[in-house]
Amino acid sequence: MAWETVIGLEIHVQLATKSKLFSGASIAFGAEPNTQACAIDLAMPGTLPVPNKKAFEYAVMFGIAANAEIGKRSVFERKNYFYPDLPKGYQTTQLAEPIVGAGYFDIQLDDGESKRIRIHHAHLEEDAGKSLHEDFHGMSGIDLNRAGTPLIEVVTEPDMRSAEEAVAFAKQLHQIVTALEICDGEMAQGSMRFDVNISVRKPGDPLGTRTETKNLNSFKFMEEAIELEVERQIREIESGNKIVQETRLYNGETRKARSMRSKEDSNDYRYFPCPDLLPIELDDEFIDQARARMPELPEAKKTRFINEYGLSEYDASIITTDAKTANYYESVVQLCKLPKPAANWIIGDLAAQLNKQELSIGESQISPEQLAGLLVRIDDGTISSKGAKTVFEALWSDGGTADEIIERKGLKQVSDTSALEAIADEIIANNPKQVDNFRAASADKQPKMLGFFVGQAMKATQGKADPKVLNQILLSKLTGQ
Ligand code: ADP
Ligand code: MG
Repeated sequence: MAWETVIGLEIHVQLATKSKLFSGASIAFGAEPNTQACAIDLAMPGTLPVPNKKAFEYAVMFGIAANAEIGKRSVFERKNYFYPDLPKGYQTTQLAEPIVGAGYFDIQLDDGESKRIRIHHAHLEEDAGKSLHEDFHGMSGIDLNRAGTPLIEVVTEPDMRSAEEAVAFAKQLHQIVTALEICDGEMAQGSMRFDVNISVRKPGDPLGTRTETKNLNSFKFMEEAIELEVERQIREIESGNKIVQETRLYNGETRKARSMRSKEDSNDYRYFPCPDLLPIELDDEFIDQARARMPELPEAKKTRFINEYGLSEYDASIITTDAKTANYYESVVQLCKLPKPAANWIIGDLAAQLNKQELSIGESQISPEQLAGLLVRIDDGTISSKGAKTVFEALWSDGGTADEIIERKGLKQVSDTSALEAIADEIIANNPKQVDNFRAASADKQPKMLGFFVGQAMKATQGKADPKVLNQILLSKLTGQ
């Protein structure tokens, strides 16, 4: 029987507050080392922590999105350990009474199936500082700017069964916290870090011993680390060895993993309620306000786009992948009332152009107003689909409006019937052989043969004839109907 992979995730999500969890120091990324840690972050004697209300609001919003019970009473505890990046000797975190209780997310898998991943809980805690090893010889640097930065740690049940499922969950979580704007989602800056717990078993057996690979900060590394660890565990077990519960590190550059430490017993942390912080009690009003501030989440948006704009499941899911694309789309539709062409152009030409230039939709050279202007002119037959591509390119590189470009480049289609009739007559007169063939052909062959005459007429008008009108004229002249 094949091996089954079992995965549970612990995710650190950095909250996008302005200041720390218990102090007014800034959490902005990229400042000079040790310029953003204050006496409270370092727990200097005589200081007292003051909880950041915004962090609670964000944690509550997350809990609502996770279909979870909100801990109306939550308690901060001290998790005691020493590490160079934690000189205060303890991390302030939550254990027995976290702010977010059990919940779940339904994730979408590539085969279109959805799967429920249960959330065990999510708790609020402060981050530690950072050890810096580059630029130092024979010693390490310590940057405490990150000390006290608010995080929620999300802990899932071991519900995922493959790297694919774990990555799908991770991506969806990223989508949700960025849509909620409670996290900036900058993975490369460490704003979301994934710890992956992995074990293998024969289906139906109890859970196997797990290892934990820590601090993965890209979806690609996560996938690679899982695949590597699953292979290793199977190899170990099949050669008669036991899996040791341990913490591992994966290096995305070398694509190798190594053991960091065997799992420390959690009793060693000597958790106890923080004597400097009272239990936090949230009233219904606070929770209702957080709920009222929640934007529409990606899943709900997708369903609405399908119902309201008649988009396909596929188009709707691409357009709602991030809130900025969805907003751009809705602006275009509001202006031109052409929901399907708007989706096609955003997913097609616009996405291709953005990709090529490595830009995000926020940096698009074409605004929703400009794109809407173009779509209207395609829809009313002013320009051909070929002309539309030309307008799109000119909008991107030169700016202006679609109408200005159509005028300047002379892209207006000829749909004036008398002009097109004259051209059709001329082509019919000049091609007697093709005309005879056409008239002798059966009705089912004729539409295909019409292409020759349309092509000639297009040539004669330098591609500016409205193909719809042209088709009609030629057909009626050739068939005499
Ligand atoms: P601890 O108390 O040691 O932190 P938890 O029971 O809280 O352990 O689990 C931590 C994480 O590990 C959770 O995400 C959970 O889903 C996952 N996990 C637990 N047991 C297993 C297992 N056997 N295989 C894979 N993941 C597991
Ligand atoms: Mg745990």
